[in-house]
Amino acid sequence: MKLTFKYPVYPTQTQETTLLQWLDHLCELQNSARNNRKFAHEEEGRFVSRYDQQQLLKVAREKYDDFREVPQDFQVSILKRVDQAFDAFRRRCKEGAEKKGYPRYKTRVRSLTWCLRKHTLKTGERVRQNPIRETGFRHNRLKVPKLGEVKIRMHRPIQGDPKEVTLVKKASGWYAHITCELSDTPKVEPTDAIAVDVGTTHYLTTSEGEKEDNPRWYRRAEGLLHKHNQTMARRKKGSKRWYKAVHASALHQERTTNKRKDFIGKLVYKLYHHKENKVLVAEDLSVSNMVKNKHLSKSISDASWAAFFDWCGNMVSERDGFHFHQVDPKNTSQTCSACGEKSPKKLSLVIRTFDCRFCGNSIDRDHNAAINILLRAARAHRGERWVTNLYETKNLPVDG
Ligand SMILES: [Zn+2]
Repeated sequence: MKLTFKYPVYPTQTQETTLLQWLDHLCELQNSARNNRKFAHEEEGRFVSRYDQQQLLKVAREKYDDFREVPQDFQVSILKRVDQAFDAFRRRCKEGAEKKGYPRYKTRVRSLTWCLRKHTLKTGERVRQNPIRETGFRHNRLKVPKLGEVKIRMHRPIQGDPKEVTLVKKASGWYAHITCELSDTPKVEPTDAIAVDVGTTHYLTTSEGEKEDNPRWYRRAEGLLHKHNQTMARRKKGSKRWYKAVHASALHQERTTNKRKDFIGKLVYKLYHHKENKVLVAEDLSVSNMVKNKHLSKSISDASWAAFFDWCGNMVSERDGFHFHQVDPKNTSQTCSACGEKSPKKLSLVIRTFDCRFCGNSIDRDHNAAINILLRAARAHRGERWVTNLYETKNLPVDG
């Protein structure tokens, strides 16, 4: 399992100038690597591999001074990025996707990555170099190749074996992302389960009938964002005051993203840890399809369920050994959770309560859907203990 730890770093002004120069150089390198592949493919019909480009890089480093000034690790990781972009492009072509999305020309590169290599100690032991030097003061030091040590604020201890460091420039400053390799957490016994139904009126409804309000970050931030754009439009492009407005807007957007992440992280923690659930079940929504619905697209993107599911699946369940299941969402809101009969008429989104024609059950629409999701997962994972508990308490007929 891999975990990434984020810390703020505070380069001095001289260090920042160097870093920005490196980012400019890497941007050029990324674009030329892309153009190299594009040219080779369009003119000569051949594919360029990452190793070909690394050979070219080697030659360039021998030839040109400005190539030698930038650490090779950064350049290699940029070539790796281009390689990944083209791999994804080729995959999309093969799948026959509608939008193939040729890797784009970049106007900016915002991050640089380097790997931490292993080296041999005098005792013969192979260890990975530690990028952090502890000082015992408020700030520790991060070792950056060819730059020296940069102030880093370690607000939480690092876990596991650090493998890779990325320095990212954001509107609010610089950040270090340290990727560490950890041993896998054993899975806990799946005893208590809860299902959630996500929506736009409420962020989610659990199978116990509890609701979580939708914060609608984007809707809230929209007004101020518009103001920033107006200011930007009024000022002369490229001027100092224009750059100030751009920065203010970027800062605002970064804060909105942070608010969203904070909310999702806390929500997932609440569902798993506070409520002591070991299993979480959700729908397997294809968010990209739903966004195509023009009336709902903004609300759906704003809710960022994909990020929520991602957080449940990758972060918490893998790190803490919990379980996360996703089930087919078909008809979950059209079926009665008490008798299992499907409603003959399609329930529109406006109707908030589900009234069953067959057994007279009247229940909140989202709550009904959440129970259906839980039952569906229970059917799929029969034999695990939480499922039998569920069936004893609910005493429901099993089909399929
Ligand atoms: Zn019913």
